[in-house]
Amino acid sequence: MVEKAIPKVIPIRIDEGKGLAPSIGAELLSPHGNTQDMRGRTLRDLRISVTDRCNFRCTYCMPKEVFDHNYPYLAHQELLSFEEISRLASIFSTLGVEKIRLTGGEPLLRKNLEVLIEMLSQVRTPEGKPLDLTLTTNGSILRKKAAALKAAGLHRLTVSLDGLDDVVFRKMNDVDFPVADVLDGIAAAQEAGFENIKVNMVVKKGMNDHEIVAMAKHFKGSGVILRFIEFMDVGSSNGWNMAEVLPSKEVIARIHEVFPLEPVEANYSGEVAQRWRYVDGSGEVGVISSVTQTFCHECTRARISTDGQMYLCLFANEGFDFKTLLRGGKSDLEIANAIMHTWAGRNDHYSEIRGSHTANSSTANRKVEMSYIGG
Ligand code: SAM
Repeated sequence: MVEKAIPKVIPIRIDEGKGLAPSIGAELLSPHGNTQDMRGRTLRDLRISVTDRCNFRCTYCMPKEVFDHNYPYLAHQELLSFEEISRLASIFSTLGVEKIRLTGGEPLLRKNLEVLIEMLSQVRTPEGKPLDLTLTTNGSILRKKAAALKAAGLHRLTVSLDGLDDVVFRKMNDVDFPVADVLDGIAAAQEAGFENIKVNMVVKKGMNDHEIVAMAKHFKGSGVILRFIEFMDVGSSNGWNMAEVLPSKEVIARIHEVFPLEPVEANYSGEVAQRWRYVDGSGEVGVISSVTQTFCHECTRARISTDGQMYLCLFANEGFDFKTLLRGGKSDLEIANAIMHTWAGRNDHYSEIRGSHTANSSTANRKVEMSYIGG
């Protein structure tokens, strides 16, 4: 396969993290859990990127050619502190957010992450419920971290793994990291008592699609739920091309041929993965089809970048600067109003209008990188 050349100079963080100024509104409203955007979508979940750094260089996410030693990673003082993150999480919870996913970059690279987990595990919704707290990791240091994360109050997690073939996996992570160590990380999480573990596999046609059935076979009956993600045109540096997207329909067909599957109802409205279960009762798999079966119409998710910008879409090209509000002495009520205002103005539906123009990195419409905004 011929690899495409990736342009070396890429704008990585639009406006270098300055972002738009959120509007607080003239009259302060009491926070409530039914803030709807312009398309009638209610804010329910939040992804928070805790670091823009990663120890992998997955070719579809943080290609080496762009994320090299000259890359302008955020300086420590630009990152939201744990106190700022948990303050934001508490404010979001007063606005109806029930689920928070920590991501990155590689979240386990953020020093003392378990301290943040512990702080977030104390947050309660207005009904007095703890948040549904989870984390996405590449699993590389999970063996070291799993027990501390569990003890801090994390109950579930998602591990990314793009195949079992060691040669293919090392090529995809591009830092020569072995499959065995990620599998060992998953085993460590199971030993630590995590019951709800998911594994995400990004499928890139011609690269790792021959691993689909092997991955299904490996995790079938293990209690781990395997999910297949269509290769997406996130960011502007991964050289995305529709020809490399294997539609989820085909993923399901390939598994079904060997291990018969039947569809399962969604757990809740707005669930991004479509669920399928093995007819023999040995578990389920999911597919996330953000390219071929878009779910913008039911997207209830906001994102906070590593430096405190609120993004309304994974494919956005600008964010709203909440760090300045957090550090500028604004009250919780003012910040809650700014969030409500920002969400109420949301009108994006990128995946529904995706075309060769929008997805093309050479256009003026450049999108922020996933490692910064949080995958
Ligand atoms: N480092 C963590 C990890 O590896 O899971 C968290 C961050 S990573 C950006 C989150 C998820 O996004 C991973 O499952 C990764 O495979 C997925 N991802 C990254 N780039 C993608 C792309 N272009 N298309 C589809 N999924 C992608």
